[in-house]
Amino acid sequence: MDGCIFCKIAEKTIPSEIVYEDDQILAFKDREPQAKVHILVIPKIHIEDLNSLSEKNSLLISRLLLKVSEIAKKSGTSSYRLLSNCGKEAGQEVFHLHFHILGGEKLGKIRC
Ligand code: 5GP
Ligand code: ZN
Repeated sequence: MDGCIFCKIAEKTIPSEIVYEDDQILAFKDREPQAKVHILVIPKIHIEDLNSLSEKNSLLISRLLLKVSEIAKKSGTSSYRLLSNCGKEAGQEVFHLHFHILGGEKLGKIRC
């Protein structure tokens, strides 16, 4: 989508440090890491957020989630937190669906 920074990263018009890629999924290092390991995993197609998912995305999202463990391991950790901010109030800044993999160190507790 025009003007979407993660679409540009997926198209490689903006460089990133890629840690995993296939035809549908890209994983790259966050430019402002919040933990020793901080990877962003995105579908290559533009989907705004979790609320925008529909049945037609089922296979893509299950493939993405099944890859997380491999991506984390490749990045040096098998203990991690996976999160996706959905909406401005929740802290979403980039409106292309993404999952943060945070790990590589002891993480603080989150309220839930
Ligand atoms: P959000 O707050 O939307 O859940 O997370 C967006 C994340 O994208 C932030 O952690 C931010 O550091 C990261 N980010 C934003 N722009 C870029 C970029 O151009 N390159 C990379 N590698 N990360 C980015
Ligand atoms: Zn996009």
